[in-house]
Amino acid sequence: MIQPYDDTYFMKQALQEAQLAAEEGEVPVGAVVVCNNRILARAHNQTERLNDVTAHAEMLAITAATNVLGAKYLTGCTLYVTVEPCVMCAGAIGWAQLAAVVYGAPDAKRGFTRYAPQALHPKTVVRQGVMETECAEAMQRFFQERR
Ligand SMILES: [Zn+2]
Repeated sequence: MIQPYDDTYFMKQALQEAQLAAEEGEVPVGAVVVCNNRILARAHNQTERLNDVTAHAEMLAITAATNVLGAKYLTGCTLYVTVEPCVMCAGAIGWAQLAAVVYGAPDAKRGFTRYAPQALHPKTVVRQGVMETECAEAMQRFFQERR
């Protein structure tokens, strides 16, 4: 049976956002917030454009999703992000009480699993490695082109 809405489907949407970031000269990280198989919000990293180090894809997607829902918690929602969230974003994901976080590529330097593995809400499910190769390649391509 074909499952149209699976982790790969939504990660592809996050990757499209990462591509938009790359085109704007931003580090290519994209995120979508999904509730009942519906994309509530999509965002990409905008730290350069906004001159704001907190403007990570996850932060922007969480804020946009809560605006759509008119509620501050995202308890029934899943956040898809192309790269492992940093400590700041993991904190925000914890505050928002997301049901699940799915990420593509690990981030050995800034990822939360190394520095703040307890930052998420205890009930939040984490899945990693979804389209990992594509997500990592987007980052590698971006940094190679800038060298
Ligand atoms: Zn972050």
